[in-house]
Amino acid sequence: MSASLPSAPPLAPLVGVFGGTFNPVHYGHLRSALELVERLDLRQLSLMPSALPPHRDVPTCSAERRAAMVNLAISGESRLVCDAREMQRPGKSYTIDSLIELRGELGAQQSICMVLGCDAVQQIATWHRWRELLDWAHIVIIARPGWQLPREGKLAQWLSTHHLESSALLRQHPCGGIVVEELRPLSISSTEIRDLLASGRSARYLMPQSVLDYIQTHKLYC
Ligand code: ATP
Repeated sequence: MSASLPSAPPLAPLVGVFGGTFNPVHYGHLRSALELVERLDLRQLSLMPSALPPHRDVPTCSAERRAAMVNLAISGESRLVCDAREMQRPGKSYTIDSLIELRGELGAQQSICMVLGCDAVQQIATWHRWRELLDWAHIVIIARPGWQLPREGKLAQWLSTHHLESSALLRQHPCGGIVVEELRPLSISSTEIRDLLASGRSARYLMPQSVLDYIQTHKLYC
């Protein structure tokens, strides 16, 4: 089943927001971000580090350091930016609050795409006011190695109700649709990188060298 959305006048180019812990940022995040920018012709994609992720332990690495690593990683790529809003807001970093803020800044007509990996989608029904997310943005799901979308249950129903057949439709409406994008699969996770570093092994070539240098300078994850 596909969502039928009311027609709307043509909109400005798409912008995207890619939330995560980025503890630390790696090529799985970065390559996916860049491929999405080009695939969807995004004007900009913001990587938005979560200061206090509501559903996981408080990261041992501070939000400031995680954002610093994101900034190093995207240096020189003007289509990727770091959005530090969740570090400036006290309390838990609820995505719905960030989307409402973004909508206020960008206006009612701007198409906004919230980007999520499949693993994050599996958890989405536990997020604060999750059903309202689509009132503020579209959702673009990145297929991720080893993860599948649910085929039954309330989440599967929600996904299929809002699914759009083509990403071209994202441009015609400011929010409310869900698309799945198959990008280059890169089986890299921050967990694996933290484990490598904690056991004294190398995380080289899984992330930018500038980020690894920062980790070494600040003696993170050891
Ligand atoms: P951790 O292992 O600590 O859970 P992670 O590598 O999954 O971290 P997060 O910062 O939690 O990274 O993820 C931010 C977003 O990026 C999530 O939506 C996640 O699904 C997505 N993501 C993470 N790694 C990849 C990858 N290799 N390919 C595509 N998407 C990814």
